[in-house]
Amino acid sequence: MNPSSIDLTAFNTFGFAVSASQYVPVRSARELQNYFKAAPDAPCFVLGGGSNLVLTRDIDVTVLHMLAQGFAVYEESDSHVLVGVQAGHVWHDFVMSCLNNGWLGLENLALIPGSVGASPVQNIGAYGVEVKDCISKIKAWDRLHHKWAWLAAADCAFGYRDSVFKHQFLDDARTQPRYVISKVFFKLLKDPALWQAKIGYGDVAACVAQIAGDAVVTAQHIAQAIIQIRSSKLPDPQVLGNAGSFFKNPIVAAQVAQKLKAQYSTMPMYPQADGTVKIAAGWLIEQAGFKGLREGAVGVYDKQALVLVHYGQGSGLELMAFAQRICAKVFEQFGVQIAPEPIVY
Ligand SMILES: Cc1cc2nc3c(=O)[nH]c(=O)nc-3n(C[C@H](O)[C@H](O)[C@H](O)COP(=O)(O)OP(=O)(O)OC[C@H]3O[C@@H](n4cnc5c(N)ncnc54)[C@H](O)[C@@H]3O)c2cc1C
Repeated sequence: MNPSSIDLTAFNTFGFAVSASQYVPVRSARELQNYFKAAPDAPCFVLGGGSNLVLTRDIDVTVLHMLAQGFAVYEESDSHVLVGVQAGHVWHDFVMSCLNNGWLGLENLALIPGSVGASPVQNIGAYGVEVKDCISKIKAWDRLHHKWAWLAAADCAFGYRDSVFKHQFLDDARTQPRYVISKVFFKLLKDPALWQAKIGYGDVAACVAQIAGDAVVTAQHIAQAIIQIRSSKLPDPQVLGNAGSFFKNPIVAAQVAQKLKAQYSTMPMYPQADGTVKIAAGWLIEQAGFKGLREGAVGVYDKQALVLVHYGQGSGLELMAFAQRICAKVFEQFGVQIAPEPIVY
């Protein structure tokens, strides 16, 4: 492979104009292995679809662009199927292929941008489902031991927008991830009799009812509803730069939640299994007066306060400064810390 410099504007959904001094497209597991065998200790930056990134500067290490495509069935029974998917496969395309093949479980995660390889990194989630629920195991290059590693789902420390892949690094500055994911294995349902529709979140049930009418609800109906809802609420990165929800919903102790509820009765809260309480960050940001606000080249989307947008000609630094002002105002008003979801480089 012959590394060469490249403009990354089209490779990050915020559309920030940064470049990489060295760029290596990775189109197979073999290419990934060969790269690391040849340069075992060289620093790198792993890029998927660039939909969860804020690039604040040029990248001065080799960008490994994960582009390997395809999936295959590895095991099959009457009830389940085990499918291995290459890291560079487009996530939404895989979800659609699942529906076409009658594989159930990922329908609520339709239309999330990005690659399959990045899906475990922040344990993508939407409309009451997280990808961890369908992941069986992961094949990744272990840059610590210079060999392939197999991680069972239980080894991945999946949490809310979190996993082991966000915590294991080779360097103190946490820029060099230990694992580079090459293939994700999903255990999906085949038998519709075992499948349960998950439509309890937000306006999914109403939208599904509208689409399905009197028919029995299927995974296709749910995916169609999710696509419809997402398209109406979230900006298309091709039109307006963004990385989806910019802030994670903060999680607070039950006592803190109680105090906040007494003060702000309409604050949306979601009790968690461990007794903590998740608060809707979008509500906090809206109440703090930021919804629809534009500052220079960046702003808060007018239809969804959780989404920060880039109108063009701005920078990742500008966006991060704006995000910090939002965090500070929310903290000042509510005493609650909110934190960005995307990876900042
Ligand atoms: C409009 C919009 C809506 C969104 N909605 C949601 C949503 O509903 N739920 C949700 O969870 N997310 C959502 N996101 C965020 C984003 O789509 C996901 O986080 C997605 O999984 C990122 O995939 P990617 O390939 O673009 O990763 P990138 O942005 O390229 O990378 C993200 C991180 O993962 C690392 N990475 C990428 N590939 C690999 C690999 N193969 N091995 C190891 N590390 C890797 C990168 O180094 C980086 O640290 C949304 C984004 C947008 C733009």
